Order: sequence, then structure tokens, then C-alpha cells
Amino acid sequence: MSSGAPRDIVEEIRSAYRRVGITLDRPATYGTYYRLLCAGCGKMVGNVGDRLLPDMAAALVEQQFELYATGGLGCPCGHQRQVTRGLDAARWEAAQRRHGGIA
Ligand SMILES: [Zn+2]
Repeated sequence: MSSGAPRDIVEEIRSAYRRVGITLDRPATYGTYYRLLCAGCGKMVGNVGDRLLPDMAAALVEQQFELYATGGLGCPCGHQRQVTRGLDAARWEAAQRRHGGIA
């Protein structure tokens, strides 16, 4: 049984959230939860546990794409909306239409 070092999964979570404009902060509680900070303004937008399995973080963020795109998740400053738009404009536009469009 060989499992990856904890640092690997943290790094994976970090890069998954970085894609949508969120920074992973230092551990918040007992090293199992990490605060998520807006990469635009530094405001805390949530937290995430590090007990995810490999690839789960990327899949999670992927599933939340529409919520970040429409402002349902993320920071009120709109940084994640901006970043997700740059990531996949077509999907972003579709999300706006599906959610009644704030844009
Ligand atoms: Zn922000």
C-alpha cells in the first residue's frame, strides 16, 4: 500500500482552485481544512478538506464551474466570474442563460 504524501493532494487541490481564481490558504483546523481565499481581493470564500482522493479536487471545481460563472459560488467581488469567463467563454455564456443571466 503506497499512498501519496499529503502534500501532493494539497498541491492538487491548490492547482484545481487556482484555475477558477481561488487561492488555497494555510490549514485552518488541525491541518485537515484549508481556507479558500479569493485571488482577486483576498476575502475568504469557503474552505475545503484535504481528504479528497486524487482527481476529486479538479472534478469538484469542474462541477462548480457554472456556480462560479454565475456568482452562485465565489466572492462577491466577481473575480471568479471573470476568471471562469476567461477559462471557457462558451460554457460561461451558456451558464448565464441557464441561470437567467445576470450579465
Ligand atoms: Zn474577491
